[in-house]
Amino acid sequence: MSVLDIYVLGAPILRQETRPVEVVTDEIRRLIDDMFATMYAAKGIGLAAPQVGRSERLTVIDVGDDRQLVLINPEIVLAEGKQRAEEGCLSIPDIYGEVERAARVVVRALDRDGKPFELEGTELLARCIQHEVDHLHGRLFIDYLSVVKRRAALAKWEKLRKGEKSHTRKVVPAEVAEHHHRDEEL
Ligand code: ZN
Repeated sequence: MSVLDIYVLGAPILRQETRPVEVVTDEIRRLIDDMFATMYAAKGIGLAAPQVGRSERLTVIDVGDDRQLVLINPEIVLAEGKQRAEEGCLSIPDIYGEVERAARVVVRALDRDGKPFELEGTELLARCIQHEVDHLHGRLFIDYLSVVKRRAALAKWEKLRKGEKSHTRKVVPAEVAEHHHRDEEL
């Protein structure tokens, strides 16, 4: 298993539509394993393929409930209620913003063996599913912020970047752990 570089805001792939996975091959399963390794190293709770530079429609999630969730070609078939909470993203490190999401979702997807299943999520899991499915359609959490808040977030991002032009970042687990606290990055 390898820890992959994470693509950050500004990388075109984060804004592109993904391609549905036709067949779940061993190569796809290797990608899934690498994505889990990367997500854990970065102390995230969810990671979508475009965040590691891939265009397959798949995401991995572990919100700390002892489940390693793999969602291939996920489709949200039910969304109800509302919740608001602060959200972050492994592709926009250190930037947070309050986002309104559905309180409960049901998602239909394929698992790592290509078998269809349905999953219900509430609270953090519901938020995470919506955030990751958004990634698979080129959407980022900052898109939901008000114009003023988005402008502030982008200004902070530019400042943190200090002119850095690279569209990827290496995951350095210790460094990330240090400033990681209550906020979850997805
Ligand atoms: Zn994200």
